[in-house]
Amino acid sequence: MHGRSSYGPDGGMNTSNTRILACSDFGSYKGFIEIFDQNKPDLLLLAGDLTSDGRAEFWGPEVVEWVDGKFVVTPELKLRKTTHVEKFYGVLKHASRNSKVFVVKGDHDDDFEGDYDVERINSIKNCHEISGKLVTFRNIRILGLGYYETHYLRTLRPLIEKMKDKIDVVLTHAEQRRLPLITQIRPELIIRGHFGLGRYKANGVSVVSPLFPDCYTTMETQNGVIRKVDSWFYCTRAKKWENCTLSCAYTARVIEKQKSLWPWLDRVLENCPLARAERISHSIGSNLRTC
Ligand SMILES: [Zn+2]
Ligand SMILES: [Zn+2]
Repeated sequence: MHGRSSYGPDGGMNTSNTRILACSDFGSYKGFIEIFDQNKPDLLLLAGDLTSDGRAEFWGPEVVEWVDGKFVVTPELKLRKTTHVEKFYGVLKHASRNSKVFVVKGDHDDDFEGDYDVERINSIKNCHEISGKLVTFRNIRILGLGYYETHYLRTLRPLIEKMKDKIDVVLTHAEQRRLPLITQIRPELIIRGHFGLGRYKANGVSVVSPLFPDCYTTMETQNGVIRKVDSWFYCTRAKKWENCTLSCAYTARVIEKQKSLWPWLDRVLENCPLARAERISHSIGSNLRTC
């Protein structure tokens, strides 16, 4: 006997066919609950910049004020960013009813003191803040590396030595310059917020950057082994989410450009449809500047 029939229907001992949804850098939460409900993941992984982000929709010229060279939080901005923060906790509550949720912290999660509250996250049933922690879910070993664990080399280097070859999935919010070091852990997959878009390889290790609402990632694992990773992009022309399976000349140019900048980056945006070129161009540009 093997597979689901060996175990109870509650999934507690069930190690086969685990569905995972991963997202990061929420510019907006619009449409996210629908994506979650459609995918019904067993596990939701969130890779930082969750309470704020460089691209977050609450920023805007009408809410940003500078007085004597200092940034002032206007009442309008406070209201709009509070709505964003509450949407994050709303997602945790919604998702945790039927799924486990692991979260790591991004740099923008410190934009407003107290918004990213580890105690509040951990107080929600099935939700765990895992920056700097190793957790296991159905035989999948997941290492959480928030922005601060990766930014400071004195923290990152010993973690890499300790975790090398022991990890299946690294969930991180990391700068581009830290990615080569993180690949030394040699995990099956790196889920990375902060920068990048779609699916690519760095030093031979698979990486996904599921920056929302441009992109999200779905995965399937069997007995702790990753069987399938899909990168979904929102097509502004077709007005729907599409699995990235076609390649286009535009993407090839992006790949070549990024390769010359970062030789260890094997492939950027493994595939993407031509229809999304404009959107991706915008996203990459904005990520380079703000995330
Ligand atoms: Zn970031
Ligand atoms: Zn970001």
